[in-house]
Amino acid sequence: MPENIAPLPDFTRWPSFPFEGNMRVKPLAAPVEVEPPRSGEDAADCVACNTPDEAYIWVSERWRVRAMDRPTGLPVVLILECRSHLDIGDLPNLLAAELGVMTVRLERAIRSLDGVARVHVNRWGDGSAHLHMWFLARPYGRLQLRGTFLTLWDDILPAIPEQQWRQNLAHVAAWLAEFGGTALAEPPHIQWESPSTIDYSEDKPADQPSAPPAADAPRPNTLNDVDARQSPADPAVSESIPTQRTPAETSGAALTAPHPYTGQTDTPGHS
Ligand SMILES: [Zn+2]
Repeated sequence: MPENIAPLPDFTRWPSFPFEGNMRVKPLAAPVEVEPPRSGEDAADCVACNTPDEAYIWVSERWRVRAMDRPTGLPVVLILECRSHLDIGDLPNLLAAELGVMTVRLERAIRSLDGVARVHVNRWGDGSAHLHMWFLARPYGRLQLRGTFLTLWDDILPAIPEQQWRQNLAHVAAWLAEFGGTALAEPPHIQWESPSTIDYSEDKPADQPSAPPAADAPRPNTLNDVDARQSPADPAVSESIPTQRTPAETSGAALTAPHPYTGQTDTPGHS
């Protein structure tokens, strides 16, 4: 087997690159003759089409916005979907125009949150067929998180406190509802705990994880699309694909209902 001696690309030396130490470029796998179907190519099997409004933080006649099933490392990670079972290039003019309006509106809503410097908007579409646009908020002052590696940092950062996470979602949902539709995310209920047990800090250094949901809780199925699109035959990749979870297992952390894509081996993360 030939030694892989491909030089590391320049981005591995960028300040925003999350890793250090000795690395090498993976060998490039041979291209497949026919690509496998994405999750939900058929509307009948589409998770988005089969998920009720209650699983979303905001809904309207033609659009819905959903969050992850538990707190993320970033202040906000949201997905915008159209109700119609279409991918981005198939949108009719009405939905295409509304996608622009919704994108601007949602970016502004998320950016209005305290502590959010920038909102990155992404569409990949390699995992799931139904159009879903990603909105990722970068915390203010975290210059190291600038740019394309934000998706990786979301999985690296400690999850924000659940109370803060729910407040953020409720804020965005309420903002969107000002323009129409229905906000379904509610702000967290007041927790009558001893003040010493409540963590109100909004911006935690990555090296001081204070309140993750659980020490060994799996991370949200957010940004692991690259894994999901790999061949399951790759054992290293198979280990990284979330295992099937039942609604009972997810309901404890879910906002209002089991996460739409939870349990899918072809997760929504950048898919
Ligand atoms: Zn669909």
